[in-house]
Amino acid sequence: MNFETKAIRLQTDRSQFQEHSTPLYLTSSFVFEDAEDMRSSFAEEKERNLYSRFSNPNTAEFVNKIVSLEGAEAGYAFATGMSAIFSTFAALLSSGDHIISCRSVFGSTHSLFTKYLPKWNISTSYFNADETNLIESLITDHTKILYVETPTNPGVDVLDLEIIGSIAKKYNLLFIVDNCFATPYLQNPIQYGADLVVHSATKLIDGQGRVLGGVTVGKKELIREIYLFSRNTGPAMSPFNAWILSKSLETLSVRVEKHCENALNLAHSLENNEKVNFVKYPFLKSHPNYEIAKKQMKLGGNILVFEVKGGIKYAQKFLNNLKMCSLSANLGDTRTIVTHPASSTHSKLSIEDLLKVGITEGLIRVSVGLENSDDIIYDLTQAFGDE
Ligand SMILES: *Cc1c(COP(=O)(O)O)cnc(C)c1O
Repeated sequence: MNFETKAIRLQTDRSQFQEHSTPLYLTSSFVFEDAEDMRSSFAEEKERNLYSRFSNPNTAEFVNKIVSLEGAEAGYAFATGMSAIFSTFAALLSSGDHIISCRSVFGSTHSLFTKYLPKWNISTSYFNADETNLIESLITDHTKILYVETPTNPGVDVLDLEIIGSIAKKYNLLFIVDNCFATPYLQNPIQYGADLVVHSATKLIDGQGRVLGGVTVGKKELIREIYLFSRNTGPAMSPFNAWILSKSLETLSVRVEKHCENALNLAHSLENNEKVNFVKYPFLKSHPNYEIAKKQMKLGGNILVFEVKGGIKYAQKFLNNLKMCSLSANLGDTRTIVTHPASSTHSKLSIEDLLKVGITEGLIRVSVGLENSDDIIYDLTQAFGDE
């Protein structure tokens, strides 16, 4: 089956009611036939649902789809993207272990590296998005995980998964990719040697700004460790959210195609705007990693950044002038969302660290939505004002 078909047709077995669309299984636990059924179920001699912290027909459907769409072996679904990332690290790392990560990662992931993992004596070294050649020099005897996001947030740099995957393989490191910005429709990191792929399903996978969710998929033996950790610690996705997210996957391909088309149109329009210093979008020829993006991504994604002339004052005036686009922290919604990373999502970083990840005072990030492309361009153009 092809991508679109799997996203629609992979389904939990029908109940005795012969429903066409999978119903909601809002139940915390499942019953046993008899004492022997209970014993053998707990002994994992058979695969069946026991308790919704462990598994549930709705979460299983969602996970099976992501596993299939990413070309993975197994997976587990979490309440949020951050619980997927934290539980993955917590399940696989021990005191004394070392992580190598790209410097540009999601803000809360950065906080895990700097604030929480050090409590358990787990340290992290960073490389800049344009310095994959330095990764090997950061490896120590304790390095266990090589971690990246691509495209990065908010700089939309594109990292070469093939090169990083081959380094991970050479040094026997676990290669983990946060594939949230690309979705499994645009990019499959497992093809390039990723051992695990994590997603915030809150973004394009839901795509309509309704629910939170996360998922980790990849090698069976690693997912087994993550599953055992999670079954005991309790970060499970709710069946209701899994039901929503599985329905969302049915339309992922058509939505993402349109998001990418709208984003490319907006990128071209901003490139020709004299009040803009530069525009960065993976599928613009001017993007420094255009060739890598073309190699590993089907389309350019729905996130672009640009820098307005005139710094922070002008950036804020621009945001205040927007009439339709939302100022909000989410991304990957049907509604176009505009943010100013330096004063919001990344305000905890020092000026020095901001510049290291390419966040200037005039930098604006757009999560391009599904409104009519002309209306998106009109709002962002009129927001530059007369003077
Ligand atoms: C939003 C996001 C996360 C965290 O996901 P939540 O569902 O908000 O917990 C992780 N990584 C990336 C790249 C994100 O955009």
